[in-house]
Amino acid sequence: SSSPPRYKRAILKLSGEALREPGSTDNISPEIVERIAREVREALAPGDVQLGIVVGGGNFWRGASASARGMDRATADYVGMLATVMNSLALQGSLEHHGVPCVVQSAIEMKNVAETFIRRKAERHLNEGRVVIFAAGTGSPFFSTDTTAALRASEMSANVVFKATMVDGVYDSDPKKNPNAKKFSRVSFHDCISKQFKVMDATAFSLCMDNHIPIVIFDLGEVGNITRALRGESIGTLVNG
Ligand code: UDP
Repeated sequence: SSSPPRYKRAILKLSGEALREPGSTDNISPEIVERIAREVREALAPGDVQLGIVVGGGNFWRGASASARGMDRATADYVGMLATVMNSLALQGSLEHHGVPCVVQSAIEMKNVAETFIRRKAERHLNEGRVVIFAAGTGSPFFSTDTTAALRASEMSANVVFKATMVDGVYDSDPKKNPNAKKFSRVSFHDCISKQFKVMDATAFSLCMDNHIPIVIFDLGEVGNITRALRGESIGTLVNG
């Protein structure tokens, strides 16, 4: 369409779990990665939106689960951060295969496989039309990739965070347990934090709140949603205010 984009620069957060085929023992489904790459290509085709991507690692490993079994939390978290690098490289490979120029910048130096995260270089890649995948989370244990998305959005001056996940928005109670759970089309940061909605962690919410970056939470399972979100259509739940 010819109307100007609602968001000039966006950060897309993909949960690691979303890369796994439900019921499969494979951590990454090449078919799902390809579907995401096609959607990203379609969404970026008009050429008026700059995109950074943060991928989680939950399809391989979550630090908190390992530390619950007695492992040192920081060590467990580094494993999780490395998992995000595998997901990021897989996504980069597929995006490039589909003609989307793309670089991976890792918060943990790994120069044989990825650039190191350097904000000003990331800025330049985005301005030159390349997708930047931010791998290895924040590079610090005790954080999440949701917080990474909020942090990168803040430092890259993004206009929005899109959280593509396994649920289609924020509910007033768990929709899997309560059939009468109500989905919000819009909810405030304050409510998300004070009512402890579990869809994102409080650190991520508060970082976006402080930096006035709205979050759109939507279902990655529905084909076309990435395109809809990047084109500025109202889907899922908008968190702002
Ligand atoms: N992680 C971390 N610091 C970060 C980001 C991630 O330590 O800045 C670790 C943490 O152990 C986390 C794991 O990486 O559990 C995978 O990330 P996350 O759980 O956010 O992935 P997702 O749920 O989005 O798949």
